[in-house]
Amino acid sequence: MSKYDYLVVGAGLYGAVFAHEAAAAGKKVLVIDRRPNIAGNVYTEDVEKIHVHKYGAHIFHTNDGRVWDYVQKFATFNRFTNSPVANFHGELYSLPFNMYTFNKMWGVVTPEEAAEKIESQRREAGITEPRNLEEQAISLVGTDIYEKLIKGYTEKQWGRPCTELPAFIIKRLPVRLTFDNNYFNALYQGIPVGGYTKMVAAMLGGAAIQTGEDFGKDAVKVSANAQPGSDAASVAADAQTCGNAASVAADAQTCENETNVGCGSIEVHVGVDFFDESGAPRKDLRALADRVVYTGAIDAYFGYKLGYLEYRSVRFENELLDKPNFQGNAAVNYTDRETPWTRIIEHKWFEFGKDDEGNDIPKTVISREYSSEWKPGDEPYYPVNDEKNGKLYEEYKKLADAETDVIFGGRLGEYKYYDMDKVIASALDMCERELGK
Ligand code: UDP
Repeated sequence: MSKYDYLVVGAGLYGAVFAHEAAAAGKKVLVIDRRPNIAGNVYTEDVEKIHVHKYGAHIFHTNDGRVWDYVQKFATFNRFTNSPVANFHGELYSLPFNMYTFNKMWGVVTPEEAAEKIESQRREAGITEPRNLEEQAISLVGTDIYEKLIKGYTEKQWGRPCTELPAFIIKRLPVRLTFDNNYFNALYQGIPVGGYTKMVAAMLGGAAIQTGEDFGKDAVKVSANAQPGSDAASVAADAQTCGNAASVAADAQTCENETNVGCGSIEVHVGVDFFDESGAPRKDLRALADRVVYTGAIDAYFGYKLGYLEYRSVRFENELLDKPNFQGNAAVNYTDRETPWTRIIEHKWFEFGKDDEGNDIPKTVISREYSSEWKPGDEPYYPVNDEKNGKLYEEYKKLADAETDVIFGGRLGEYKYYDMDKVIASALDMCERELGK
């Protein structure tokens, strides 16, 4: 019999949700991550009491009540609303595209005037059925906004001409004939108080995180949940989801006998690579569990044998500045082609410039984001969901389906430009199928 029911590869959102639910259903779960930290790309690191979004800005937003209720079990969300500012050669515009943007661009005052302006530019461009991102953008907001606020940013972000990009990417952005700078059309939005790392730690049951060096020595002996961290209180949430509500899952302290139904556990090891030097899944790890939940890149799992799927990567240049305010907003997008970075994030504004005690923070941390084509060794961030990659993904998906003991999930495992809420929804759906809940 295997040591664990599940080996979860990747301690990001998908892996953490799955691990949590599996433990709540009485399973023994081993979670590993190649990085030295949990939380995948939503990882936040504390610098001068600022929760820095180390792998890019993440603003939680959803229309899915089930997902919103779910995340409330692990974090309190603040009232942050994303309202990025666009900087085009020093001209500032409101995002997403709304009456403030149209007024600044054209001097129009009423929604009718704005709609007429967009319509006349669309007509002039002669677009009836948009076939790519450029045509889609012009037909949504007209040529001026496309040229100043979309073209440069998108081509920097994706490294491809807008005519070669799928239209759906731009449909992520709302277009409104109202004075509303909320970047998302979402019923629920916010940032977890204390940072995302804390939230994911709570999903992992407050597990004590083991580092790679321990692995193999005492990994099997140390149950992460034997020493619940400060987030252990969150484990109580399992009582509702646990098959056996009397024994709270994922917390060894309340589990006298680990064989009890509804008495699972989560063990977390970071700094452990699933792949060996040759790029194949490590046999010793594989043998530890009955089933695997793999949340890494799907093509990497198969040693890229059908070819490389394309991803965009991001390089961050972080600076700690000895001043309280750099740009007055969490996100400023540089939408001209000439500025080499796509955007600058000033992390403290995700939490209104306050630390966890509610005090003003005298310093600030900013991150310039540079987008690049992914190459082996880089971190993959964005799947390039165009036709060519879609076809290759389908081939990998066939291989994945034939791996009956492995579940592929998450942005990289499913090669989908998922937002966080969609990742969680996808993980919860998988839990229902896999764990029968
Ligand atoms: N976009 C743009 N100008 C902006 C912001 C976004 O043209 O100022 C386009 C760009 O093509 C981008 C897409 O809208 O890839 C989706 O933007 P979103 O903010 O959703 O991207 P993410 O936050 O996931 O990087």
